[in-house]
Amino acid sequence: MEYHPGGEDELMRAAGSDGTDLFDQVHRWVNYESMLKECLIGRMAVKPTVPKDYHEEKKILNGMLPKSQVTDTLAKEGPISPSYDWFQTASLVTIVIYTKQKDLKLDSVIVDHQYDSFRAETIIKDYSYLIHIELSHEIQEDFSVRVIQNVGKIEIALKKKENTSWECLGRPLENHNSFVPKKDAGLYYRKCQLISKEDVTHDTKLFCLMLPPGTHLQVPTGQHVYLKLTITGTEIVKPYTPVSDSLLPEFKEPGFPDNRYIYFLIKIYPAGLFTPELDQLQIGDLVSVSSPEGSFKIPQELEDLFLLAAGTGFTPMVKILNYALINMSSLRKVKLMFFNKTEDDIIWRSQLEKLAFNDKRFDVEFVLSAPTSEWKGKKEHISPGLLSEFLKRSSDKSRVLICICGPTPFTEQGIRILHDLNFSKDEIHSFTA
Ligand code: FAD
Ligand code: NAP
Repeated sequence: MEYHPGGEDELMRAAGSDGTDLFDQVHRWVNYESMLKECLIGRMAVKPTVPKDYHEEKKILNGMLPKSQVTDTLAKEGPISPSYDWFQTASLVTIVIYTKQKDLKLDSVIVDHQYDSFRAETIIKDYSYLIHIELSHEIQEDFSVRVIQNVGKIEIALKKKENTSWECLGRPLENHNSFVPKKDAGLYYRKCQLISKEDVTHDTKLFCLMLPPGTHLQVPTGQHVYLKLTITGTEIVKPYTPVSDSLLPEFKEPGFPDNRYIYFLIKIYPAGLFTPELDQLQIGDLVSVSSPEGSFKIPQELEDLFLLAAGTGFTPMVKILNYALINMSSLRKVKLMFFNKTEDDIIWRSQLEKLAFNDKRFDVEFVLSAPTSEWKGKKEHISPGLLSEFLKRSSDKSRVLICICGPTPFTEQGIRILHDLNFSKDEIHSFTA
């Protein structure tokens, strides 16, 4: 009321009644959708689920359950199903997803618009909410995705190809408006183009793939995707963990600034099934990339982060390292112990050494199993002695996380040692198949 140019009296003319006509008489041209969308936090018509054995109707106030009841129901049945709505202006159609969850990030939403299909999958805890429609009208290639965290709202703004009014959003396609455990949702693949392929070591390469224009996908830290190729008539899929293009700003690819590119560090096994085919791909060739999978969530307020990696088991550590050093103000120490056969096998050695030099919180130690005689560092396999010396907390009660990844026997042995060293389950995250 204080700020309305027409003053309080003018506003009071519509108080308690439908003010649409009055509004239209005075300022029909105002784009009220964009002003109001910030305020819309959900639909009052959505009712919480009432537990089957809950008969005391009179305790239900204004259609809402008493608070404790709602919490109990949620805890047993997982998150409340999201809902969606849409609205339009002359040039835009905005799809709004009301998730009722406050910790959503931009990487919780995956959008794919290809041919006649528009898909928006939202990951909420271990569940997947899908919007899947054939849009009633054509839209332009680029769209924007916004997450309004404090109210758990997602807005996908699509640009109309023609400025006509849409009577409906479109026709529902398979599993539209479904909310199912993520494991039951199946993985969706989109075709990505190979943009570059660079040698990193004698057998490991950095692959850069470009997402198609109608896709919004960011792989969360610590999660992997599946790559799919057809090899002698059979579709083969293998999991790979996206990395950032480098650990340091000066190694970053200058031309590739946005989220349309996904990078992978992949070791080529000459006798392997999948990687030699991947290695044969030419720039411009297509590879199918799945939606992300994995359960890793980096705990907040960490003080000590220890990373134990063997060979390409280094890949999940890349984004964890980047994330922790940039975003965690509580962090005192990050240490990577990196196991390889020889010096030539060490991925991004100079970047790691430079990072350790530049950032006093970070240390790296290389451990080799089959070094040359010139190697001055540690020559061994993972062992209790090695780990007990390496895993020193910065203080007795410091909040610690240990991440471990490598060949399965390496990881299993590492976990056994960590338990013997009295680290709790919550303090260990292993990356396994
Ligand atoms: P495979 O055919 O699986 O063969 C691998 C090696 O084993 C070859 O040397 C082959 O000769 C040998 N071999 C195969 N079968 C036998 C057998 N029966 N007996 C003896 N030897 C055998 N890898 C990466 O490089 N980068 C990543 O980011 C990455 N992320 C991953 C994420 C996850 C979650 C998992 C589980 C794995 C990840 N991997 C990663 C490994 C990747 O998925 C593949 O396993 C790897 O690329 C090998 O694939 P391939 O088909 O080429 O080789
Ligand atoms: P590698 O070069 O064969 O081995 C790396 C180091 O680990 C070497 O020093 C090796 O010693 C040691 N090592 C191997 N097996 C061991 C064991 N049983 N006990 C102790 N040390 C052992 O590794 P790689 O070919 O890069 O393979 C990496 C593995 O990581 C693959 O199996 C891949 O699937 C896995 N990975 C998993 C994920 C995930 O998220 N789950 C992500 C990326 C990679 P030796 O010289 O004695 O062999």
